[in-house]
Formats: sequence, C-alpha cells, structure tokens
Amino acid sequence: MKKLLITIDGPAGAGKTTVSRRLADRLGYKYIDTGALYRGVAYVARAQGIGPDDDGGLQRLAKQLDLSFEPSAQGLRLIANGQDITDKIRTPEITMLASAVSARPALRAYLLGVQRDMGRGKGAVFEGRDMGTVVFPEADVKFFLDASPKTRAFRRFTELQACASQTLAEVERDINRRDQNDSTRDLAPLKPAADAIIIDSTDLSVEEVVARMATCISDRLDGEV
Ligand code: C5P
Repeated sequence: MKKLLITIDGPAGAGKTTVSRRLADRLGYKYIDTGALYRGVAYVARAQGIGPDDDGGLQRLAKQLDLSFEPSAQGLRLIANGQDITDKIRTPEITMLASAVSARPALRAYLLGVQRDMGRGKGAVFEGRDMGTVVFPEADVKFFLDASPKTRAFRRFTELQACASQTLAEVERDINRRDQNDSTRDLAPLKPAADAIIIDSTDLSVEEVVARMATCISDRLDGEV
C-alpha cells in the first residue's frame, strides 16, 4: 500500500504525542517527535553555556551537532553526538528554553534539514508546530490538534505528576507562555495549515481522536485508488 507522510501540529498539551504514537503504531509507520529535537538542542546549548539569544553560538552548535533517534526496547531514544539525552529533556527549564531557542533562525534552518531527511521515504507521522505549514507543506494528510487551555494544562500536569515538579498553576502559566511564544514568533509560528483537518480533542478520548484520524487517512487513500 502507498506510504503517506502525515503531520500533526498543535499547541502544548493537546495530546499530540500520545495520538501520534498510537496512529503511527496502527499504520505501521515511524513516529517523529520534532519537539524532542528542539528540546535536544536546548539541552546541548545549556550544557555548553550558549544562551537562547546567542545566534552565533547556536549556529556553531548546529554545525557540530549530530541529532538522531534510535530505536530501543523503551521506544525511540534521542541521541546527541553519541550521548543518550532522552531522559534529560523534559524538565520545566529545558521546556521553556526549547521554546526560546526555537524562535532563532539559525536553529530552525538546521532542524529543517534534519526533519526533511527523516521524512524521506514517507511512512511517517511527524508531530510538531510547523510540520504542515513549513517543514512538509506537501504532506499527504495534515492534522491540527487543539483542546481548551484548561484541558491542556490539566493533561500536562497529570503527565508531569510522575516527577511532581510543578503545581497545576505553574504548568498552566508555562503552557500559556509557550503558546504565546510559539504562535507569535516571526518564523514558522504555530498555526494550522490552510489544508489541515482541525480536531478539538477537549471532549474526545485518545481512541476517538485516533479513530477520526484513521478515517480521514483511509478516505484519502481510497480517493487515490
Ligand atoms: O512539542 P514540545 O512541547 O516537546 O516542543 C517543545 C518546544 O519546541 C515548543 O514549545 C516549540 O517552541 C518548539 N517546537 C517548534 N517546532 C516544532 C516542534 C517544537 O518550534 N516543530
């Protein structure tokens, strides 16, 4: 069967990661979490003492950085210059730093190439903020997954409770700041592509969202036969 390239964009906490993983499993496709790439760069920049406004430093970092995903028994691992940094990129500090570095042109240009390389051969679900608008404008099926701000904050808070690092109010504050940064930046701002299918997951379960997406995808495939 023809392999498609599917994009899922949307704000923080809309459920993109869970839904993208399940959808990729169901289709037998690979799943790429592009937010992890931005987090990875933020982590390495911090380790090297490079600030989010230091364009020269970020440009030098990008030139010598090799970022990749490697499969493992616990899912995909993020490898930066040979070091597994998967478990280090989800702290509140790295989360906010990722949002700050993601507005810098040198970094977006570098990750554009990395992401497009990963998309060669299709058969992939890409999750992020600008997948359908900038990185893969020719994607076969584009989704924009949203949910109410309160729902998104609560979902993220529940996820983070495993490490109990923030209160619900702090999670909500960070999500609002991040949404503001991500949707008002000049480069590749968060917004639905003109041809994206918009799904509001506020009152939907993960299964319901995945089922809706699968129906849209099979309609698209049928239309091409
Ligand atoms: O998706 P996640 O919350 O892990 O993304 C972390 C940050 O990376 C986002 O807040 C956003 O600033 C940035 N990002 C981006 N473009 C993408 C994916 C993530 O700018 N395609």
